[in-house]
Amino acid sequence: MAILRRPQYRDEFEIAIICGLKVEFDAVEALFDEVWEDNGAHAYGKAAGDPNAYATGLIGKHPVVLTYMPGLGKAIAGRVAASLRSSFIGIKLGLVVGICGGVPENEDEDEILLGDIVISTGIVEYDFGQQLSDQFFRINDKEMTLGRPNHEIRAFLAKMSGYRCRTKLRENTCTYLAGLSAKEGFESLRYPGADQDKLFRPAYLHKHCDNRCNINCTVCVDHRGDAICDTALGLSCTELGCDDDEQITRSRLEKIKGAIGGSDVPVAPPYGGVGVHSPRIHFGAIASGDLTMKSSYHRDNIAATENVIAFERTAAGIWDNFPTVVIKGVCDYADGHKDEIWEQYAAATAAACMKGFLKEWVTADKPVRGDAVDAGNSSLYYMDLWSALATAMQDRFNDKRV
Ligand SMILES: [Zn+2]
Ligand SMILES: [Zn+2]
Repeated sequence: MAILRRPQYRDEFEIAIICGLKVEFDAVEALFDEVWEDNGAHAYGKAAGDPNAYATGLIGKHPVVLTYMPGLGKAIAGRVAASLRSSFIGIKLGLVVGICGGVPENEDEDEILLGDIVISTGIVEYDFGQQLSDQFFRINDKEMTLGRPNHEIRAFLAKMSGYRCRTKLRENTCTYLAGLSAKEGFESLRYPGADQDKLFRPAYLHKHCDNRCNINCTVCVDHRGDAICDTALGLSCTELGCDDDEQITRSRLEKIKGAIGGSDVPVAPPYGGVGVHSPRIHFGAIASGDLTMKSSYHRDNIAATENVIAFERTAAGIWDNFPTVVIKGVCDYADGHKDEIWEQYAAATAAACMKGFLKEWVTADKPVRGDAVDAGNSSLYYMDLWSALATAMQDRFNDKRV
């Protein structure tokens, strides 16, 4: 059997994972097959001046370095990515993994539900432009905006978005999701329930209601206007009393309700596999910027003009530092109606999909370094070709003797 070893140096890491929230980081780290930072025994250190904190380990057959952003937004993401690149100079793939706002109905894809996963085929920096007196003008000059993914990533995404690979990716995602829910500390990880997946009519805003909740809010009271008070912005739909009759009916959601009811259930069917409520995976362009999108009107306008399927706040800052793919679970519809009950589930589906994604990702062959030594562990990483060859020759020799 071939001898495999873990990286000896930082520059041998090729895959970085960046998370912006603790719930995202926890889900990703829980899916490591090995963690190499325990007790500092295998710490790889970092470059002088790098303020990031890292976790290193193995996911499937890939060594990965995971880092956590101390805040959200493009500027912080850019600083984190630049520091990461100074310490880990061999990074060839950056995965931004976590939660996002989804565009529920879009041109190319089937309907997106909460907990579904979006994988970026491109990034649109939708808040980069000029604010004119009557409108915002987005700059999309090729010299000044983010480019498309490199050839290797485009080719891989094209393959993965095909029916066979996408089906396999979904199956593997469900397997890893079920495994995550069985881990200590993830006992509360459940599918929150189809009844909690609420998409309201775009014109119905998340604000104090006028006739049912007896709250005399002078800001929200004008339902013909768009003004929403600060109190309402900080409340969930349940706390605010948003009217369920204002929801849009969606066929896929109705099928889930018909099959398993509306309440929360385990993330995977009892006998494994893909359930009717299991997340689907959508490939498309993702809008990234400093704004948190909380307006169905602006969401739909940008989705229509830029053909994006989700909104998030990290990738635009990472993009220029190394080739990037965004893998995010949908935790809301970017419309102001919010319930945090989907965050853990969406972070978990994204992390599970990330692991399924890496299962298919192939790194290029590398020459064995002259100074490489076997680290003496079972990590499935670096194949010792001489050892493999010797084993194969011994097997052939034994076969002939029989
Ligand atoms: Zn109000
Ligand atoms: Zn609401």
